[in-house]
Order: sequence, then C-alpha cells, then structure tokens
Amino acid sequence: MHRRRKIAHGHLVTCRRHGKSPGGVVCRHIHDGSARVAVRIPPPPGEEGSDYLCDRCVRHPWDLQVGNGGLVAACMWCARKGTQHMQVFDLDEYARSNP
Ligand SMILES: [Zn+2]
Ligand SMILES: [Zn+2]
Repeated sequence: MHRRRKIAHGHLVTCRRHGKSPGGVVCRHIHDGSARVAVRIPPPPGEEGSDYLCDRCVRHPWDLQVGNGGLVAACMWCARKGTQHMQVFDLDEYARSNP
C-alpha cells in the first residue's frame, strides 16, 4: 500500500512567481486547494523539492500521472504555500498512523 516510490525527479521548474526553483508534483486536489490533508513525499538524498499528495491520492500513487491531470508540476515554494492551510504529514509518519 505504502510503497516508497518516487513520482517525479527533483528537477528545476520555471515558476511564474518564483522563477527557476526545485520542483516536484502535487496531486490535483492539493493544486486546487480542496484537500484537507497533504502527505509529503520526501526527495531522494541530495535532491531538493518535495511531492505532495492528498490522503486519498497517496493510496494509489501509481495511478497518477502528470499527463492525465492527476498530478500537477509545482515549484517547491508554491507547493509549500499551497499546503499551508492543510495538515501536512511526512510519508513515513502518515504510513505509521494509517496502516
Ligand atoms: Zn489528491
Ligand atoms: Zn512557485
């Protein structure tokens, strides 16, 4: 269920607000602000940027892709700002409390 799986590489994205920034992806519910709970998927060691999925999407991340509208690329500053009003868990923490 909670396989650790990197969804996108921590590459640089060009953000309209923040310029070139470490990027990740967020699920569309986090992007549109409808999610209440965000789960932070940490980047591999040495990379910056995190991915965020809502508590529903984190249960089937392999179904989500940037191309099909399930995921949206976001710079790490926008992702952080977008999740400010949500409860944010780290993946390990979330997996422990939701076996
Ligand atoms: Zn979602
Ligand atoms: Zn940004």
